[in-house]
Amino acid sequence: MVSERAVEVFIEENTPRDGIQNEAVPFTIEERVHLVDGLSECGFRRIQIGSFVDPRRLPQMAHTEEVCERIRHRQGVVYSVLVLNRKGLARALACGIKHLSVYVSASETHSRKNAGCSVGDAMAEVLGLIQEAKGKGLSVRAGVMNAFGCRFEGHVPPEVVVKMVKRFIVHGADEISLADTPGVGRPETVTDLVRRTKDACDAPVSLHLHDSSGIGLANVRAAWKAGVKSFDSSCGGLGGCPFVPSAPGNIPTEDLVHLFESMGVETGISPSMLSSVVQELERKLGRPLGSRHCGLEADGLHAPGTLLE
Ligand SMILES: [Zn+2]
Repeated sequence: MVSERAVEVFIEENTPRDGIQNEAVPFTIEERVHLVDGLSECGFRRIQIGSFVDPRRLPQMAHTEEVCERIRHRQGVVYSVLVLNRKGLARALACGIKHLSVYVSASETHSRKNAGCSVGDAMAEVLGLIQEAKGKGLSVRAGVMNAFGCRFEGHVPPEVVVKMVKRFIVHGADEISLADTPGVGRPETVTDLVRRTKDACDAPVSLHLHDSSGIGLANVRAAWKAGVKSFDSSCGGLGGCPFVPSAPGNIPTEDLVHLFESMGVETGISPSMLSSVVQELERKLGRPLGSRHCGLEADGLHAPGTLLE
């Protein structure tokens, strides 16, 4: 069951977008709708249901309009999308979306592969997009991809990231996301960048972490200790950027929920309902997914604080 306690950490579920965008097995509109509805039942307060990007580049994300139209819009749940340009914003507005995530890569090479333009051009587009979306009453989370380093360019100076964050804020972003697109962050670098970002702005900071080497949850813990209360994740650790070679998946949602429950931090998520969603995805994809924790226990089997503290 979904807990009645006040939620202390905010988890945005990204499976319907980041999770499936890179999968070779096609998802029908019905399957995408079913996935979003299943996640809504688990207790997530915000679900990224898809993206409005060029369907020729990301065929799994075609027809996000239909997904948006057909999901059960559960009260208290925010259904969000990812957009990268004003064309995407127009599509989001047309289906009544109220919350957006927008991203600009801190890496020139990745920006050209992912957004098809330079960092400068992507930034100009996104800043205009934020202003337009805010003017139309939407909430906008603006993020920096490759904030902790880049598979192509290596080190990304934190000063560059903070400068981008400040520009997002000046243009009206409500929330900042720092994305570890290639999964190269380490607890020390995460702590450092979170602190610099929080010093530079008052907006809430959330982390979108990919996990290339099992350090993902340690990065979550480091960010939590540095004051981050919001994290993205994906069922079974699905996902990854199609424009990064051997892109790692996200932090598995089940493991993230388990980590926080083990720390005595209320997530508001039902582990058993989440487990059912993951098992359905495993059946659909025909392989076990990468979390360590799925299906191992029912709600409340472990008392908070008994495992990791
Ligand atoms: Zn991602």
